Amino acid sequence: MDIFQHTIRKSVSFAGVGLHSGNPVHLYIKPAAPDSGICFVRTDLDSRVTIPASLHRISDTRLATTLSSEDIQVGTTEHLLAALIGMGVDNAVVELDSDEVPIMDGSAGPFAHLLKKVERQQQKSKRVMLKVTKEISVKNGTSEVRILPYDGMKVTCNIDFDHDMIQKQSLSLEITPESFFQEIASARTFGFLHEVEYMRQNGKALGGSLDNAVVVDQDGVLNVEGLRFSDEFVRHKILDLIGDLALLGCPVLGHVIASKAGHTQHFQLMKAIVGNPDCWQFVNLTHNGNESTLEKMVSSTREVRNKIKPFLLPPQLAPFNRASCSI
Ligand SMILES: [Zn+2]
Repeated sequence: MDIFQHTIRKSVSFAGVGLHSGNPVHLYIKPAAPDSGICFVRTDLDSRVTIPASLHRISDTRLATTLSSEDIQVGTTEHLLAALIGMGVDNAVVELDSDEVPIMDGSAGPFAHLLKKVERQQQKSKRVMLKVTKEISVKNGTSEVRILPYDGMKVTCNIDFDHDMIQKQSLSLEITPESFFQEIASARTFGFLHEVEYMRQNGKALGGSLDNAVVVDQDGVLNVEGLRFSDEFVRHKILDLIGDLALLGCPVLGHVIASKAGHTQHFQLMKAIVGNPDCWQFVNLTHNGNESTLEKMVSSTREVRNKIKPFLLPPQLAPFNRASCSI
């Protein structure tokens, strides 16, 4: 785990289409100042609208995670956010000229590859992490998401689809930049053919194709190249979970166990975390000889804590406005 925050060494750019809108999108990821977090900036509008990557900006979780500021939105944020957080980038400005992050190949792989290539830049501020100290869980019908105390970031995901190609899949993984890159980043989003057809009729998935999603019908996978992993489906669910948890605004130390969950349940878990401040504390890492140890944040780090903590409160209570992030 990193003691200090990181941004990227230089800007990187991507071009693609929005999965649901079908619109072309140009996207830039740019370095950002310490403690500024991740912000989206719409550059196609008359006024430069900034939307912080915060759970308080979530406006829709039905097909993907959409963030909004008043009536301005950025859709399908989760794969890009997963790539940033998964690759250990704390601070970045994401500029885009449309209302949806490009879907690329349906995974976080293209983002992660370029972030790895451009390399990270260590910054002077220490990383502040949210360490879970007591279990928090949310249950919704047959879906359940829990987070348990753990000195690291671990994710266990269980899915159960009534389909021969998928059925029950389960995977448990310690998340580090290396494991994220190797095991998770290239797992693609997936859908069932009948659902894709229904979405198209309702003006969604207009940019979807076999180039950016695994599509399954009753006979199997329609993509001629097949699957990238035999359990690509559960790996993509872990990718989505990592991307959504980025909206807490700082790395999380805990073991998340998600069963039959999606964006809506991830959002419910984040709200439960924010609503139960007695179940977690802010920590950072300190060197102790050759080892790095977790330390509960004390008065000497109050300045950083005061910057991060309001991020976890409802915007109307927060004296600190992350929307003012600068580059
Ligand atoms: Zn996804």
